Amino acid sequence: MRQVAARTVDFRVGERNVFLHVLTACNLACRHCYINPGQHGSSAISRETMAEWLALFAAPDRETNLILLGGEPTLHPDLAFGIRTAREFGYASVTVDTNGFLFHDFLERVSPADLDYLSFSLDGPSAVVNDPIRGAGVFATCTANLCKAVARGFNVSLIYTVSRHNIDFLPQMPALLAEWGVQRFFIQVIGLRGKTAQGQAGDWQLSPEEWLAVVPAVARRAAELGVVAVFPKVFLASDEDFSCAGRVAENYFVFPNGRVYVCPLCEDYPINAFRIEAGQLVRNSGLTEERFFSLDIPEGCVMSRLLQPANLGHSPDGRPLHRISCCLLKQEMKRS
Ligand code: SF4
Ligand code: SF4
Repeated sequence: MRQVAARTVDFRVGERNVFLHVLTACNLACRHCYINPGQHGSSAISRETMAEWLALFAAPDRETNLILLGGEPTLHPDLAFGIRTAREFGYASVTVDTNGFLFHDFLERVSPADLDYLSFSLDGPSAVVNDPIRGAGVFATCTANLCKAVARGFNVSLIYTVSRHNIDFLPQMPALLAEWGVQRFFIQVIGLRGKTAQGQAGDWQLSPEEWLAVVPAVARRAAELGVVAVFPKVFLASDEDFSCAGRVAENYFVFPNGRVYVCPLCEDYPINAFRIEAGQLVRNSGLTEERFFSLDIPEGCVMSRLLQPANLGHSPDGRPLHRISCCLLKQEMKRS
């Protein structure tokens, strides 16, 4: 068996990531959906706006990665146009996050050369596990299209959002991913956003012990099988420094209504740092997410402390049992 190299993927100085939600509509109604039409609108950006916003965030002299997402982005009839336009504007990489339904003959309209990664979301190794979360028939459609994309030469990744409902089945994933030809495996932690923030959060959320007992070992197994595994750091060891991406990195989470956030945990609230107005990126004044990033607290991430206090245990003398890392800080495991 070959060695597995594990590393924390620090925010690289100067790196820019643009997460462009081209619409918020979706054909599915996943039980943990984080899209919040009340905050993000229910419209799709037009073809013209897509080109305008791609130009606005392009910075050919800086490495800028573009992630196109929704809702379900392949529902947008101009997604292929957006991908090719992004290439012309010099984005360093272009990724599409899909629920697997690949509308508008997506695989016919783009080529593997257009796209760095096509990322499928799946929350279980079988229909029995996945479909109660994502919808009837989703497992069959998603996996059929995933295999079709692999056969056509696309670089395919898979996102598995781990919660109480599916963590027991996560260990079955590495073998399946290797069999399907998936190249990267993103293990995502369920967050208190969108629907899960409104319902029975305790039904979904994992304790630190549950997460740490399962996720790193599954990531290592995937890496041993040749699939690069990436998962959020979530908890910092006592000798690890805390860093907030809002302070040191450049991430833009762009929504069809023109809101632009720099921290994904803030997306349920009207505290976006920026907005797009008349084709320009405008910094908002008043109480915005940026005000929170400068607060230094013993628990680490200030937004986790404010929005998800239930995640943080404290000792009797009030000290946090765990420090929460930035949700954008990842760990990577791959075969060396
Ligand atoms: S596929 Fe994504 S956008 Fe659609 S319902 Fe599921 S989580 Fe929400
Ligand atoms: S998740 Fe926390 S640490 Fe990361 S950008 Fe947001 S506030 Fe900062």
